[in-house]
Amino acid sequence: MSDCLFCRIAAGEIPATRVLESERTLAFRDINPQAPVHVLVIPKPHYADLAGLAAADDGLLAEVAGQAHKVAQSEGIAETGYRVVFNTGSHAGQTVDHAHAHVLGGRPMTWPPG
Ligand code: AMP
Ligand code: ZN
Repeated sequence: MSDCLFCRIAAGEIPATRVLESERTLAFRDINPQAPVHVLVIPKPHYADLAGLAAADDGLLAEVAGQAHKVAQSEGIAETGYRVVFNTGSHAGQTVDHAHAHVLGGRPMTWPPG
């Protein structure tokens, strides 16, 4: 989708700080980090949200989850712990309608989130 921000990042049309890439996924640093480590993992094909991705390609969803853990390992937070979040819909604060996993860590995090 040419008007989707994350599709354009996946295509290399908009710059991002890439940290991990596979044929079908991309991980890059969030532009407005909420924790010392804040990386987004996206499927390269466009799905509007987690539900759309899960319904269309559960293998790709599993790959996104696996890449989230690899990011945590390479960022040095796999041992201390990290959070993986898929904001879905307006009450959750989803602002980009291309499915993405937030990988957050590097400090203790509160529960429940706000
Ligand atoms: P969400 O609010 O869950 O939809 O998450 C969207 C995330 O994308 C937010 O955390 C933003 O800070 C992040 N974001 C927006 N634009 C960019 C960009 N150009 N590069 C990296 N991250 C971005
Ligand atoms: Zn997209």
